[in-house]
Amino acid sequence: MWQHHERDVWPTPTADCRSPLPRVACRVPIVTTRSVVLQTFPFSDTSKILRLLTLDHGPQSVMARGALRPRSRLSGVLEPFADGVATFYFKPDRDLHTLSDFDLTRERQALGRDLQRYAAASVLCELVLRLAPAERDEELYRLLVRGLDALLEAIPGSVPGVALAACWSLVDVLGFAPDLSGCSRCGDDLSERPGRLDVREGSLVCGNCLPGGGTLPRAELNALRRLASGDPVGAAPSSRQVRLLVDFIRHHAAEGLRIRSLDFLLAEEVR
Ligand SMILES: [Zn+2]
Repeated sequence: MWQHHERDVWPTPTADCRSPLPRVACRVPIVTTRSVVLQTFPFSDTSKILRLLTLDHGPQSVMARGALRPRSRLSGVLEPFADGVATFYFKPDRDLHTLSDFDLTRERQALGRDLQRYAAASVLCELVLRLAPAERDEELYRLLVRGLDALLEAIPGSVPGVALAACWSLVDVLGFAPDLSGCSRCGDDLSERPGRLDVREGSLVCGNCLPGGGTLPRAELNALRRLASGDPVGAAPSSRQVRLLVDFIRHHAAEGLRIRSLDFLLAEEVR
């Protein structure tokens, strides 16, 4: 349910309002909130639609009229992964609002110049697009911005580890993190023993309870614990670590939907 934010204001109806309703019905609240651009696509030769994660109002879609005109002050500003302060006319009964302004805080177009960074940033944004709650979620917003910054600043070679940690952090805040504390069936502590991540159950199982191989050596399991807590492992994560994340997100977080960007992450990592 949308609620007024203290910074939201109600403008005077414009003179060119053509609604047959009384003029008060034309009033549209203006919302100003920090936002990350998750996705953009052209709507016409001159306008584009943005999918945003806003800090105050969760995910929102806005139309940026004229943003594709070369002389627009928003030209080149409204690109994926950027964040800034968006101002838009909010229509509570609509899915698409009208962007009025975007005050850029940080553009991250450099992410597009590196396939691994771009793939990982796309995974973060796609997770948010598909799974973010409708209402304000400050922790999700903070982790998304932190993940994008970490990808931007990661030194070469550390990108896959940073990417996996950022993805696991989002999975955690979205409520889908696996339980890695012990065997989910017998309760045994697995901090010093190998275990197997049961993707379906979203938890660890020991070799006694689920024979048949596929157990992660202790070092790999500890690396997974660190990644799942948002801590990038120093060395490049193994392709198995990447596949675990891919399988886990596909099974739990994406509810069977295909997260296209994950394929790039996997393809890049195992290449
Ligand atoms: Zn067990």
